Order: sequence, then structure tokens, then C-alpha cells
Amino acid sequence: MRDNLKFSLESWPEAGLKVDFVLVPSVISPYLEAAVTEDGEFSEADPPQLASSMRGHLELQLFGKRLRLVGAFSVKVEFNCHRCLAAFVDRLGDNIAETVELVRDDREPDDESGAAVRIINNEFDLTPLICEFFWLAWPMKVLCRPDCAGLCLTCGANLNEGPCSCHKTQIVRH
Ligand SMILES: [Zn+2]
Ligand SMILES: [Zn+2]
Repeated sequence: MRDNLKFSLESWPEAGLKVDFVLVPSVISPYLEAAVTEDGEFSEADPPQLASSMRGHLELQLFGKRLRLVGAFSVKVEFNCHRCLAAFVDRLGDNIAETVELVRDDREPDDESGAAVRIINNEFDLTPLICEFFWLAWPMKVLCRPDCAGLCLTCGANLNEGPCSCHKTQIVRH
């Protein structure tokens, strides 16, 4: 079991590498924060809070300058429901099947449209890449449950906890 995704090309095995990993939140969080500020895609003010370590497995194979990754990852995340705003913890995870270009030192990638991983001193770190997969797996719509009733637009009560007084009045009026 590895606690990081740093690899050396020094003694890379012909057959490739198979790794199981557990990354504690403090290893991943800096990359998630960077993603929030750089492209602004994450609309909420705070970076996501991880409620567990990220666990996963990867098979890595090298084909010249290309690295093939196949595996999966899973982590528990603290979400806020888009409808009722309640905080809840759920699993975020996905399968991984991707080929990336390994780019030496300060050279430019050959294919700028594809994902690239930088080699520095014959070593590379897949943590930033795994954090990109994290963002790709982030749900478009975050709901605490599929039938979340949301908040009352009039009084702001959480309707999952039962009808609010404005709704009760409406029912009486009908
Ligand atoms: Zn909800
Ligand atoms: Zn109400």
C-alpha cells in the first residue's frame, strides 16, 4: 500500500507497475484548492472538504513517452445539497482509463490538448492528475437524496423535515 503517487523512472519495470494507494486528505487538499483558484470552475467559496482518505488502485504502463493508467479511486466528500443546503457525506469515485504524455523537465508537451505529467529529475507525481479525475467525477447536481424537497421559498424552512407553516395554511385554504 502506497501513501503517495510519486514514481521514479530510474528502475521502471518492463511489465509496468500495479499499485494500491491511500492518500490522506492533507496530501490531496492542496491540489484541490489550487484547482478552485486557477480555473474558477468550482463555484462554491470553499474547496471541498474530504471526509476520508482517497483509496484506489492503478496499473501503470509506459509506452515510450506515454503512460497508460487503468484503475479506480474513491473518497468520501462533504457535500452541500443544492436544494436544501444541508451538509452530507457521500462517496465520490470513478474508474480511470487514460493515457497521458510524460513531459521532461521544462519542455512543452507534444500534444497540448491532452493531459500531461511532468518528469522532474527522472521522477513524476500523479497526485495532481488524480485530483483532475476527482473534479471530472464531481456531480453536476448535488442532492442529499433524489427526492429532496428543498427549502420553502417563503419561510426558508427545510421541507424534508415536514411541511412548514406557510404550506399548512395553503392546504387549509384549498
Ligand atoms: Zn437536500
Ligand atoms: Zn414556508
